Amino acid sequence: MTSMNHIIVILIIAKRIKCKWILLMNYDKCCSKNRYIGRFIFMKNSNKEKLLSLKDYYIFNDKTLSTAEKYIKVFSKDFNRDMDVNEHTDMGMISLIIFPMLKQLENYYNEEICISSGIVLSLIESDEISFRVKSYHAENLIFRLSSIWDYYFNIINEYLHLEIPADNIIKNEIINRHCVNVDFIKRENITEVVEKPLPIQKQKKIRKDLKKEIKVLGKGILINTIRQKFDLTDRFKKIISLINSECIEELKHIRNQIIHRRALGTGISVDYGFLGQSVSINNKGWCDFNELHQIIKENLEVISKAIQVLHEVIFLDERPNSIENKDKQYFVIKVKCKACGKESILPEMKTIENKDILCPVCWEHGVEIIDKFRTNEINYGDRMYKHVNNFIEHIDKINEKYN
Ligand SMILES: [Zn+2]
Repeated sequence: MTSMNHIIVILIIAKRIKCKWILLMNYDKCCSKNRYIGRFIFMKNSNKEKLLSLKDYYIFNDKTLSTAEKYIKVFSKDFNRDMDVNEHTDMGMISLIIFPMLKQLENYYNEEICISSGIVLSLIESDEISFRVKSYHAENLIFRLSSIWDYYFNIINEYLHLEIPADNIIKNEIINRHCVNVDFIKRENITEVVEKPLPIQKQKKIRKDLKKEIKVLGKGILINTIRQKFDLTDRFKKIISLINSECIEELKHIRNQIIHRRALGTGISVDYGFLGQSVSINNKGWCDFNELHQIIKENLEVISKAIQVLHEVIFLDERPNSIENKDKQYFVIKVKCKACGKESILPEMKTIENKDILCPVCWEHGVEIIDKFRTNEINYGDRMYKHVNNFIEHIDKINEKYN
């Protein structure tokens, strides 16, 4: 009879005689190498375990807190050090959206992530803290450490104008929008927007096609999209290398088990061994906390480095050129208006019949170019879009005045 058969028989007997002790077997690291070691420990039935209270979960003595403080000091970062914003960047969208998103991410790292990590690393090191308390805090941290990457990807998505839906909720909104016709109906002085659903069969086809076609933001889709669209700069190559770090996958592997299969603090859970699906029984849980301690530290290193590189990219405005324009150079010019005297930054452009460039403040002809700077394709495009739009608004105002 194999050792596994022994275990099954003993478990059946234990169940039949309604033994108030249950049999626990410990898997250790050898399990993953298919060298199963059966080790039997008797402990009280987990049903009899006392429920922990708020006070049990939040006992942080001085030693725990001082170790936590030490870790918080080691891992928190001043991402902003010695760095000024590139003054030639079109700040419209960036100052309204990208800078605040980046600042939130940096604060999230320095506050939620570092504080939670400091506590968890300190608790894991302590012999006096129960396994369930360690698990409770570690589980919270694991979700934070995993989710921060989605926040990070969202910033790149916005910054590079990739327009990948951030999640399935937004994806479904986009699909719903494709299933209606929008009409603008004028009633007296008001224009009403009326949505008319498309015929059901047409909707079904659109839904089926778009469900396949539209991909939701994640590591894979982000990397593929930016590799296909852009001639990557060294900093973007570094970002891709960091988000592909092995320690992120190791943490995700643990997080996925927590989401789908077993809480970090469970002693008895579904597992898979060399004999197929099985049950893991271990009063110290299924996750090796010494390994988790190491994985957390490695993740903190990778996250802080990745935020630092993204910070530099955004502050220096180092957006890569598209692949089709990879060898083109883009410039912005600093101009001074001869009429109103105001200085402005414009995309370098050729005017019709080489006429003078229009001043974007007073719209008179005649500006003096006082400086010229290299920029990137997206910043150039943003500035050109803004300049043309402002010009159209100016023409509209003139038309309104004389009509
Ligand atoms: Zn002017």
